[in-house]
Amino acid sequence: MIDAHLHLQHLPDKRVLEEILRSASSRGLNLFFCNAIRIDDFEFLNELASGYSSVVPFYGIHPWASGKLEEGWDRGFEKFLKERVCGVGEIGLDRSKEIDLSVQTAVFRRQMEIAAIHGKPVMIHCVQAWGEMMPILREYAVRVRFLLHAFRGSSEILSEIMKLGGWVTFSWKLFKQKYNEPFEKVVKLIRQVHPGRFLLETDFPYVGAKVFSTLTAEQYFECIEETYRIAAEALGTEPDEFKERMKRNGKAFLHGTSDR
Ligand SMILES: [Zn+2]
Repeated sequence: MIDAHLHLQHLPDKRVLEEILRSASSRGLNLFFCNAIRIDDFEFLNELASGYSSVVPFYGIHPWASGKLEEGWDRGFEKFLKERVCGVGEIGLDRSKEIDLSVQTAVFRRQMEIAAIHGKPVMIHCVQAWGEMMPILREYAVRVRFLLHAFRGSSEILSEIMKLGGWVTFSWKLFKQKYNEPFEKVVKLIRQVHPGRFLLETDFPYVGAKVFSTLTAEQYFECIEETYRIAAEALGTEPDEFKERMKRNGKAFLHGTSDR
């Protein structure tokens, strides 16, 4: 299995982090797309990726962190991007936050440009900002391999993302209705997506305070296993075959070998 979007570096208990990474392969989990939120995360992600080949770092500035950047923040990126197999993320636009959308857009566009220059895949966060997001995606679609994480937009938007050659992930939170989306809508979306261009994620440890007060490695494994189980069931695919497909999809997103 692959967890295509999470933030292992933000686990409050570092022993839990170690336990997850050490026991992952025995639970059938081989790859983590581990996303930065802010510049402070980069160094630690880099260390994690040096210690564990299962960790693929995504370096990026989340829209929530785009309000207070120092001059020259973008140059810091390139050093990290050159070091290893990695992506750019988590970046994007979010209207639910108070940060000026024009500031968010400038930071987002700059990171799309950097990803294009370095040929890196991009992990995107979009909340209530599809009107601003779609023109940027249309503009970059030929130069950047992009993925909309924890997708919960409309069927029309999904259809355009697929036409542009984009990717999406579906999340545990969506399956467990933490966003109050009716499950029939979720099933419809997952059946609509191109079978070679979607992945699954937990967004761990951001799984909702009401669900887990203290996070354990076992809770994490249950979370990812349940996500796979629900998706395979929704698609009527046999679990092992489904896991194989996700493995191929993950590698294709990372290395750019997908059929568009
Ligand atoms: Zn995230």
